[in-house]
Amino acid sequence: MKLKSLEISGFKSFADYTKIEFEDGVTGIVGPNGSGKSNVTEAIKWVLGEQSAKNLRGAKMPDVIFAGTSKRRPLNRAMVTMILDNSDHYVESDYTEVSVTRKLFRNGDSRYELNGQECRLKDITDLFSDSGIGGNAFSMISQGRVEAIFNSKPEDRRFIIEEVTGVSKYKSDKEKAKRELEQTAGYLNRVNDLVVELE
Ligand code: ATP
Repeated sequence: MKLKSLEISGFKSFADYTKIEFEDGVTGIVGPNGSGKSNVTEAIKWVLGEQSAKNLRGAKMPDVIFAGTSKRRPLNRAMVTMILDNSDHYVESDYTEVSVTRKLFRNGDSRYELNGQECRLKDITDLFSDSGIGGNAFSMISQGRVEAIFNSKPEDRRFIIEEVTGVSKYKSDKEKAKRELEQTAGYLNRVNDLVVELE
């Protein structure tokens, strides 16, 4: 699984269609202050379904749409497409390349697409659950978060390590299985009561 490219259009400072290709190795994005470097990571967060405008440094979601400049009129639509190389089938999909698109129009209409087909946000979050990719996953570490991890209490740090290593999923699966066992035990007791009553 590898981030292959990102297509941004009408999102924040990216008024024009921009395609960023991520080659093998490390990719660094450099530019003067305010040139839009953070907007690239926010585009990734957004396409993966971020629902909080605040987490994208806005007051409301339409703030992500290009708001115009002294020389350019505002746009009516923001669009981001993220393309992942899935030739190792790291995420459960038959596709060797997975593309995720999110669009938002100024009138409030929005749309998500998986490989070009309209889908629900849930389809996207389900696809990436347990993959380590996602709005809240640790695949994206912001400046402040590094400090927060180092300064966190041991139990909070343990939670983070469990999230990263995928242990949390097994813990929640275990809790679910326990609840189902308890429920089944309850049903069995009820059946036994009925058997006694019928005898
Ligand atoms: P720094 O190095 O200071 O952290 P940066 O390169 O990460 O900066 P960003 O914070 O990504 O820059 O981009 C900020 C720029 O994006 C600002 O110039 C801001 O005006 C512009 N911007 C944010 N939202 C919009 C929008 N909806 N429409 C147009 N421009 C926007």
